[in-house]
Amino acid sequence: KESRAMKFQRQHMDPDGPSNNSNYCNQMMRRRLMTEGRCKPVNTFVHEPLVDVQAVCLQRNITCKNGQPNCHKSSSSMKITDCRVTSGSKYPNCDYRTSQKERHIIVACEGNPYVPVHFDASV
Ligand code: C5P
Repeated sequence: KESRAMKFQRQHMDPDGPSNNSNYCNQMMRRRLMTEGRCKPVNTFVHEPLVDVQAVCLQRNITCKNGQPNCHKSSSSMKITDCRVTSGSKYPNCDYRTSQKERHIIVACEGNPYVPVHFDASV
């Protein structure tokens, strides 16, 4: 079974990206299996080395959107792509708007090793 840490990598890590094309989210959301059963409405891909994203877990704890205390915010801004389903998108033809940004990321971490398992927000 896919671990939560591996799921985070599948859903949120693309260190070699971004390819700067407007179809990035349409292609990546499908390729990373987030358009199965429904179109996942919002998803962020991070274009930084995995070790740098894992290191965010070393930052001080902050409260996650769901009230849990195990979130952490990156000290630097990171290259990300924000994918949001368009208002006209109709499953199974999931259509996304692709926005490249530089933002601080907030992730939740768990386990031993203590690694990212959830993408909470970019700020
Ligand atoms: O904020 P919300 O609970 O609606 O987020 C649901 C999921 O959407 C998160 O678990 C995460 O996978 C994804 N998300 C994201 N980037 C954001 C906000 C949410 O990838 N900026």
